[in-house]
Amino acid sequence: MQSFAYYMPTRVISGRNCVPEHGDQLKALGTHALIVTGKSSALNGALDDMISALERNGQNATVFDRITPNPTVASVREGIALLKSAGADFVVAIGGGSPMDAAKAIATLAVQERTDEEIFAGGYAAEALPMAHVPTTAGTGSEVTPYAILTNDAKETKTSITSPAMFPRLAFLDGKYMEHLPVRSTVNTALDAFSHAVEGMLSRNATPLSDALAKESLRIFYPLLQKTAGPLTLDERDTLLYASMLAGMTIAQSGTTAVHGMGYALTYFYGIDHGRANGLLLGGALRLCERKSVPALKEILSACSDTLDGICETMDTLLGAREDIPREHLLVFAHAAMANKNIRKSAYEPTEEEVRAIYLSAFPAP
Ligand code: NAP
Ligand code: FE
Repeated sequence: MQSFAYYMPTRVISGRNCVPEHGDQLKALGTHALIVTGKSSALNGALDDMISALERNGQNATVFDRITPNPTVASVREGIALLKSAGADFVVAIGGGSPMDAAKAIATLAVQERTDEEIFAGGYAAEALPMAHVPTTAGTGSEVTPYAILTNDAKETKTSITSPAMFPRLAFLDGKYMEHLPVRSTVNTALDAFSHAVEGMLSRNATPLSDALAKESLRIFYPLLQKTAGPLTLDERDTLLYASMLAGMTIAQSGTTAVHGMGYALTYFYGIDHGRANGLLLGGALRLCERKSVPALKEILSACSDTLDGICETMDTLLGAREDIPREHLLVFAHAAMANKNIRKSAYEPTEEEVRAIYLSAFPAP
């Protein structure tokens, strides 16, 4: 029997109108919420629902809506200052991965002080202000992971910080908040969730339970992945959100692999959306798994009920035209990626030459 540990302390409440109907669950979190969100994340109904629920509970709320994609340490510091001046004692996140990750960093750094130099040094204690998350993309699965990914300017990349206390106490899942999510964001965030489930199974830290979550995510997610570039029903939005949560639960145990580690350079230097960056690299990583006969690949194809060619074709259609990135930049990214711990956590552990080949195949020369 394989030994493993499993920890996922988030209470997930899923269903239409779950925020208004189960908002009383927020009472246990504190008396004053700092609501962390972004400008358009705040416009889908979730913020109004949350403020009404807090009002009904007799709780105060202060809104911090200045989180932009790829959150920075400066925006986290700004959030902490507002939290302290308002006297907030818990944090609510409304948005995609960016507000959710910023909220986690705010909730943690508010009680564990660190200088900018120390933020990415690891070793966080299991201590943070309580949090409730409402995802408005599907997505990162950040509502059920203990990670916050921040822009790390000193290292010119994105780096995760983690602590067991970064699991939110509550996650509210309602696909209605995604009804007007633009097509590009829908596609890119779906590619991220797909990548989480696939990479979870390709991780050296995969467990029988994380694999079960990933397979279920792929089974229900993959048929919808191909449809994300077109109109989606509300039911389909709900399903994507559920599958994205399962993929988040997967990486909460397994972590991600080389694909995520390599994608950060594309986001940092070329502003490519996080999910798209993973989608661009995933095909090359899967082809490498085939060449290296990585056993999990067969299980991934079986969960998707498709061939490797079929999966690559689906992703190619969704990705469309590739960005123009000079070959010499890709070679620099490949060299830098080798320092990322995600490389060694991959069952397909690529050499620098293989990392280079994955980058080059993502951006074929015209
Ligand atoms: P995002 O950066 O949170 O949001 C992307 C865009 O979508 C933003 O412009 C946002 O607008 C907009 N938006 C969000 N919800 C919307 C809605 N319902 N309707 C209309 N527009 C909406 O993107 P994301 O892909 O969800 O998150 C990516 C981040 O998560 C990255 O930083 C990535 O590194 C991180 N991530 C974290 C984990 C984890 O486990 N913690 C896992 C994977 C990825 P506004 O900004 O104006 O609000
Ligand atoms: Fe991701």
